[in-house]
Amino acid sequence: MPFTDLSIAAGAKMLPIQEIAERAGISKDALELYGNFKAKINVNSLPPAGALGKVVLVTAISPTPAGEGKSTVTVGLADAFKQLEESVVVALREPSLGPVMGVKGGATGGGFAQVLPMEDINLHFTGDIHAITSANNALAAFIDNHLHQGNELSIDPRRITWKRALDMNDRALRHVTIGLGGPAQGVPREDGFDITVASEIMAVLCLATSMDDLKERLAQMVIGYTYGREPVTVRDLQVEGALALLLKDAFKPNLVQTIEGTPALIHGGPFANIAHGCNSLMATNTARQLADIVVTEAGFGADLGAEKFMHIKSRKGGFHPDAVVIVATVRALKMHGGIAKGDLAKPNPDAVRRGMVNLAKHIDTIRQFGIEPVVALNRFVGDSEEELAEITGWAEAQNVAIAMTNVWAEGGKGGIELAKLVKQELERPTDFKFLYNESDEVEEKLRAIVQKVYGGTDVQLSDKAQKQLLELKKYGWDELPICMAKTQYSLSDQPKLLGRPEGFTITIREIIPKLGAGFLVCLTGDIMTMPGLPKLPAALNMDVDSDGKAVGLF
Ligand code: ADP
Repeated sequence: MPFTDLSIAAGAKMLPIQEIAERAGISKDALELYGNFKAKINVNSLPPAGALGKVVLVTAISPTPAGEGKSTVTVGLADAFKQLEESVVVALREPSLGPVMGVKGGATGGGFAQVLPMEDINLHFTGDIHAITSANNALAAFIDNHLHQGNELSIDPRRITWKRALDMNDRALRHVTIGLGGPAQGVPREDGFDITVASEIMAVLCLATSMDDLKERLAQMVIGYTYGREPVTVRDLQVEGALALLLKDAFKPNLVQTIEGTPALIHGGPFANIAHGCNSLMATNTARQLADIVVTEAGFGADLGAEKFMHIKSRKGGFHPDAVVIVATVRALKMHGGIAKGDLAKPNPDAVRRGMVNLAKHIDTIRQFGIEPVVALNRFVGDSEEELAEITGWAEAQNVAIAMTNVWAEGGKGGIELAKLVKQELERPTDFKFLYNESDEVEEKLRAIVQKVYGGTDVQLSDKAQKQLLELKKYGWDELPICMAKTQYSLSDQPKLLGRPEGFTITIREIIPKLGAGFLVCLTGDIMTMPGLPKLPAALNMDVDSDGKAVGLF
């Protein structure tokens, strides 16, 4: 039987989580056990922080739908640091059940670079995402109850922006009508569902730095508008306390381990398109408290995940990455070189060479932030020597640090060369700078992202977005960072424009203020907040055996 992520994970021997905690310097009283191999960390019981660890951010070129191995490289790089006897913790996002059951697969790494127990982490884990679903839907219920009980706040049922949520890809719930059946059943209105990882509560949980901050952010969330077009917040409904209570355990970072026994904090998983796409600030801050080096990742390519990591997460957290790794694969470079999905398995060094423009743009972007990136060439079994040499040769000619990584097949050992290059960058001071200031005009902030990060010409706002911008200014909400919702496949807003498109304009369809999260979501193209399942979802391969063991989970 060929190796699968699940079979490799099943063959690995896990250590009791107390042992992992001990390795990470987490005392018993800061540990809340969830079985033998998972625990939550009670951050308030940790000793006061001394020097904080350095942050290595793993990002990627514009990916193929299968993913280029960011999580895999993140885990493998952490294991490589451990093999080099560095003090290291890896911090990752929690997988959402929608992609797990759909097409993308899990988010626990792959091969011999995985976090364990992968089936728990990919399914219900410690229940954080369910708690977020509950808090999201409790708020929806409070809103509808308010309408039913006399609507003292004069909320316009046609202008409620808060939607219900479910952690599944379920297109049938994108638009629903609720409250039907007569006066005793509530007030009829149009509603809809988002996938839980797109809920503002997920973003709030991931950006809050304390329980008080969490509560304050929840209170600031706008749920809709009154008949007089004034915003209505959670604070107006007086339910931020109840929502925070529902999240009290979900707010604590989860501790697990890699196959090689490196401590891993897995916490929070906001969408990388509609939200900022990285694990919680709580987990990253905790990891920095525990280790000298924290390896973490941000979703999709550097144009989305890394840009938002810098402008949203780092800004809120008051830190910045000390090193950045860009994951590239032969497969994705060939795709950017114009090869169709069905032909990607055939060696084609010329296509790889043509596709390199995409990697070059992402390198340029990271350099603009004042950080010298290291490229991790994530090697797949089918890659030809000619194709690999094409990439390493290019990098050498361009003076770009590059390491071939084989962590999928070899675990930490396959990432030693990468770890050594990253270590060199960690020892060098960075000259970090943001590409825009929060106080800049919204259009200026958008233009900075489009021109500096995407390599486009300009940005234009739809009539709707222009109206929304006037409203944002009226309420004084315009001094927030931007959270771009854009396709991950292209640097532009057209998924089919691969490589390094030029001369394009990005159209902002809508601007949605997320005051709790503290950013302005700017929608481009057809970004879904509730994805659908494919014709043949991954779920068709899944099963559980008579001993209760997972089958077919990738
Ligand atoms: P990303 O984080 O970029 O979305 P993942 O790390 O989740 O990507 O990897 C996506 C899938 O590709 C996983 O199933 C993983 O096992 C597989 N994968 C990653 N790297 C390799 C590799 N070098 N060889 C074979 N499979 C790989």
